[in-house]
Amino acid sequence: MQVQPIADLDDEVNEIRLRTAKIVTEEVIPAEPALYAGGDEAKEARAHISAKVKEEGLWAPHLPEEYGGMGIGFLKHAYMNEILAWSPFSARLFGVVAPNAGNQKILVKYGTAEQKKKWLEPLIAGELESCFSMTEPDQPGSNPYAIQTRAVLDGDEWVINGHKWFTSNGKRADFAIVMCRTEQDDGAGGTKDKMTQIIVPMDAPGVKYVRSVPVWGHTHGDHAEIIYENVRVPKENQLGRTGSGHQAAQDRLGAGRVFHCMNAIGSMWRAFDLHCKRAISRDVHGGKLETKQFTQGDIADSYMDIQAARLMTIHCANRIEAGVDARADISAIKIFVPAAFSRVVDRAIQAHGAMGVSGDLPLAGMYTGARTLRIADGPDEVHRILIARTVLKAYHAGESWDFGV
Ligand SMILES: Cc1cc2nc3c(=O)[nH]c(=O)nc-3n(C[C@H](O)[C@H](O)[C@H](O)COP(=O)(O)OP(=O)(O)OC[C@H]3O[C@@H](n4cnc5c(N)ncnc54)[C@H](O)[C@@H]3O)c2cc1C
Repeated sequence: MQVQPIADLDDEVNEIRLRTAKIVTEEVIPAEPALYAGGDEAKEARAHISAKVKEEGLWAPHLPEEYGGMGIGFLKHAYMNEILAWSPFSARLFGVVAPNAGNQKILVKYGTAEQKKKWLEPLIAGELESCFSMTEPDQPGSNPYAIQTRAVLDGDEWVINGHKWFTSNGKRADFAIVMCRTEQDDGAGGTKDKMTQIIVPMDAPGVKYVRSVPVWGHTHGDHAEIIYENVRVPKENQLGRTGSGHQAAQDRLGAGRVFHCMNAIGSMWRAFDLHCKRAISRDVHGGKLETKQFTQGDIADSYMDIQAARLMTIHCANRIEAGVDARADISAIKIFVPAAFSRVVDRAIQAHGAMGVSGDLPLAGMYTGARTLRIADGPDEVHRILIARTVLKAYHAGESWDFGV
């Protein structure tokens, strides 16, 4: 991986990118076969690389320094992600793995001092695992207002009843952050907002782990289906004020979409690199792949997809950093980048023939990951509606849309 300093970025972020690239190239990528295989060798490699990451001060880019993180803020973290994502193993090795990282950020922002001590600190230290339990089998996840899992106050306790699925990391988790409807059937019991996020220990009576939903044919994943039946937790387990659940979810997902897109760009970059190396090395039908116009066309198309995806994402990140309304930009990258990611990986797979779909390369995992991204965090259609609504609102107000800002 070759990473040069970017002329218009400050020295700190360039230096972070170069040091990250060095570890990813020299330590993470060479260890991938062992990490894929698992077992003792993988455990050793993980411990060795994470120690090096900490030594280099590159641990937990999403967290403030007071919590043991890098304290680099939103934009620098986004720029670091495209380097990290060259390997699917980096996130865990650099202490920024989902869903723990998102939960840590929510606990930093909404947690009380006691919640931070009890849940956040051990989560950061790796002593606890967590999950985020929002999506339900019987309700459309694309409409967060449809959630039916209810929490009702009984004295000093929340009593939770509901059915969730696709709670990633649910089996390993020690606690879940559960999105609950705290408004009652008659509309009473809540504020004008209807949902609240509540911390639920996974060993609380009434938490019933049903199964891990198989995803892409993998039966040993960890996307849990969970029933919460009369689960009682202390009132102080609620995060933020009653009714702040949607806002907390937006806080998690809004900036998170930029990070996911920068991750996708890093993965595309790696896929493109593999594609180009294959083109100049593989002999087919009397010449290298690079001499065939089909291959040249695919490389050019992937180049354009990556450039467009990257520039759109950086533009969106800059707008968020500047504090301007970036709703249309966030939705635009959420649609465009995963689709570009799918196309880029698809072309790289094609150039590798059978090896492309084998477990010897990261391309097959990237392919399913890219497809999944078009559904998770809000499917494409919902974001298309959001873009159109935002743009047309300006026209209804007698304005037009200014692409120059
Ligand atoms: C691998 C994976 C991991 C996940 N991890 C988690 C997790 O950790 N925690 C969690 O809570 N959730 C998780 N999810 C769930 C994810 O967030 C939801 O799948 C997503 O929000 C979509 O909800 P749904 O599956 O209920 O689809 P639905 O809301 O039922 O939508 C189905 C389809 O309907 C179409 N559609 C929806 N709205 C419209 C519209 N307005 N107009 C036209 N078409 C429309 C879209 O094509 C959409 O794909 C995960 C999902 C996956 C695949």
